[in-house]
Amino acid sequence: MKTGLQAPLTVLPGIGARRAKTLEAAGLSTLEDLLLRLPARHEDRRRLPSIASLAAGVPATIRARIASARVVHTRRRGFSFVDARLEDETASLRAVWFNQPWLVRTLEIGREGFFFGAPRETGGAARGLKFENPEMELIGPDAGGEHDPIHTGRVVPIYRSVAGIPGRTLRRLNHLALGLAEAEVQEILPNEVMARRGLLARGEALRNAHFPEEPAAPGPEAGRGAAVRRLAYEELFLLQAGLCERRAERISAPRRFAYDGSGETRRGLEALLPFTLTAAQRRAWDEIHADLAGPHPMNRLLQGDTGSGKTVIAALALGLAAVSGRQGALMAPTELLAEQHHDRLKDLFAPAGIKAVLLTGSLRPAERRAVLEAAAAGDAAIVVGTHALFSRDVQFARPGVVVIDEQQRFGVSQRQQVRRRAGDPDTLVMTATPIPRSLALTIYGDLEISVLDGSPPGRKPVRTLVRGEEDRERIWAGLRREIARGRQAFIVYPLVQEGDRAGLRAAVEMQAQLAAGSLAGARIALLHGGTEREERRRTLQAFAQRALDVIVATTVLEVGVDAPNATVLIVEHAERFGLAQLHQLRGRVGRGSERAWCVLLAGEKVTEAARRRLEILASESNGFRIAEIDAELRGAGDLAGTRQHGEDGLRAARLGRDTDLLLAARADAREWWGRLAAGDAAPGRPLMESIARRFGERLALPAIG
Ligand code: ADP
Ligand code: MG
Repeated sequence: MKTGLQAPLTVLPGIGARRAKTLEAAGLSTLEDLLLRLPARHEDRRRLPSIASLAAGVPATIRARIASARVVHTRRRGFSFVDARLEDETASLRAVWFNQPWLVRTLEIGREGFFFGAPRETGGAARGLKFENPEMELIGPDAGGEHDPIHTGRVVPIYRSVAGIPGRTLRRLNHLALGLAEAEVQEILPNEVMARRGLLARGEALRNAHFPEEPAAPGPEAGRGAAVRRLAYEELFLLQAGLCERRAERISAPRRFAYDGSGETRRGLEALLPFTLTAAQRRAWDEIHADLAGPHPMNRLLQGDTGSGKTVIAALALGLAAVSGRQGALMAPTELLAEQHHDRLKDLFAPAGIKAVLLTGSLRPAERRAVLEAAAAGDAAIVVGTHALFSRDVQFARPGVVVIDEQQRFGVSQRQQVRRRAGDPDTLVMTATPIPRSLALTIYGDLEISVLDGSPPGRKPVRTLVRGEEDRERIWAGLRREIARGRQAFIVYPLVQEGDRAGLRAAVEMQAQLAAGSLAGARIALLHGGTEREERRRTLQAFAQRALDVIVATTVLEVGVDAPNATVLIVEHAERFGLAQLHQLRGRVGRGSERAWCVLLAGEKVTEAARRRLEILASESNGFRIAEIDAELRGAGDLAGTRQHGEDGLRAARLGRDTDLLLAARADAREWWGRLAAGDAAPGRPLMESIARRFGERLALPAIG
């Protein structure tokens, strides 16, 4: 039976409804999905030496006959092994498999098979070479000695297991899938692109990516021959073509309502701010204002280092919506940040009679109802919240501007969902994890981009020191001096994992210990993910009013807390944090005009990589440059906040590594799209379908009929 790549996985022997379901949960529904999940690497198992020529420790595949096989039960209870003898024309060899007694049934005497392993030297009475747990592939009794091995005797793909299916089974499934579908694989890329880039045909690429004849040549491209390159290119082309489509659709969408674009209104809004905008802020605001006054819905990314002053830009956009009779929504990743934003917007807009309300998951039912009503009736001009803002029961009477703060903390599809639920309004996404512009353009190719470089006036870079246990007393002494001068501090503990109590316990203990010892007399409060809303509020208010000296916290502080009088940040176990996270944390201080300090306290056991991260932070204060370094260290997918959600949809390509491919695919896709739009090219149906299938949902493309 032959079938196309879109056939469900259940066409494969061994995949029933149950397995299909778990595979689907892991994102694999069709033969194509399976085949686009490439092996982690290949292993060369082609050497087929005779048994006599085997050498200890050298991995090899042998083709041999089974001369004997039995199960041996040892005196240790529950422990057994299968003991077999394998032979060819030259010699024989012992093979053992531990604790798999059932194997003995398949090891029929006289049957032939391939066996792969690294033989070991054994001592004692049974001197000689021995295979332990060799990988085995028996030749079927009816095969007449003919056999095309899958697991041995060839270049063998090694897969990471998925949905509980081990690598060996995946190898068999991929082999079966290729057998069924390979002959039916259609080319999807345009001919001229294939020729220009010298790409391998799709079917051949799929075959070779899994079961190549030869191992890939060593070198910088190790393990990534022409086959994987072709598939990575294809993927990036589909993504870029989808972005072209998305962008074209947006640009052609007319604005459904108008904002008040007058200079007078604009000056009125700016007059509400307690300071004048920096040059960079003015530029960003100009761009946003032009979007809102323009003929198409806004879809803009505002990139700016932590502390660069993004919030006021968001406030201006929300304010413009409000004075134009529309509503604005601001979504933040944590309740703490949402509360802070709400407080600031409320104060900022109260004089103008613009009402801002707060919607988070921890509102009491009555409060929640009141907020929902205000949003649905249009009384609330600005609604600030967490993702609770976009649950099903939230309705906006006249949605206008949606701002998503710290967008790197949300998944791609969450962002899309929010936009759709709000009726595709004008959207501003803000990120404090800047990424290099070229990369931003390719990942967020459908967004316009504004950049806030530089920071508000009078800022001095935060002095960053890397210190160890032995410096602790000196650090507390320094902190006492700062407190005596009326300054405030944060001390942060890592939560190693979500729900991990150890970090919390450490923070609680430290608070008590400091209050009783090194910082006796100082006013110290505790803040963590589980702190009640009211208490959290009181703590931050007290801190803002300088009724507290120190906040000991877990990483809830990471985004958003804005306390200009805080000049000291001490990070415990700094080695456990990532670069971007530490940079964000550091952004909590140095927000006023006073010189600020960041002390990164490293624990006893620090890896080389962690040590390097800390040194980079100590010497670099520019978030964009830190992001570039981070990209090099980790690969860009992580950075864009997509890899960790597993949602960038990329399988063959890696954004950090495949920059050249990405730029080529982007140029080709734009050119192709341009010719399509001009009517010079016909949209190949398989290509259009592939774009929709792979990236349609992510890019919220319209379904194709
Ligand atoms: P971000 O969100 O980019 O990290 P914020 O918007 O929280 O930064 O701003 C950081 C701090 O700088 C806030 O205390 C804010 O009031 C202040 N700030 C912002 N813009 C200016 C400006 N133009 N002049 C003076 N202070 C500013
Ligand atoms: Mg911010």
